[in-house]
Amino acid sequence: MSNPTIFSRIIAGDIPTDFIYQDEFCVCFKDIHPQAPTHVLIVPREPLPTLASATEQHHALLGHLMLKAGHIARLLGVSEAFRLVVNNGAGAGQTVFHLHLHLMANKKFTEQALMD
Ligand code: AMP
Repeated sequence: MSNPTIFSRIIAGDIPTDFIYQDEFCVCFKDIHPQAPTHVLIVPREPLPTLASATEQHHALLGHLMLKAGHIARLLGVSEAFRLVVNNGAGAGQTVFHLHLHLMANKKFTEQALMD
């Protein structure tokens, strides 16, 4: 079995982390290298490596993550304007192979710069 990712270690409690939100299926915490004044990660507890590796059995989980993105945006007071990003694969900039949604806000986003 492959080594647990940093996110699995955070979820397991091996790396002390303040959770902005957590429930049975996902956790949310601040990105350590924020690309926007508000930048949090929404991470399923199940260690799916990529979005593309999800199957029909993850239907409810993926819906849950999207629903909670809206909930967390409201918690953070940014529900009027925020951006969600999923990087899938190293070529798209994915560095942690445990599915996660980037939720970013309080920045003027342009179409060209999805993360910068
Ligand atoms: P990605 O490049 O889409 O795989 O995103 C991984 C994100 O995880 C990056 O934005 C990193 O800054 C962030 N990250 C890596 N390690 C940690 C950590 N220990 N705590 C919080 N965020 C992290």
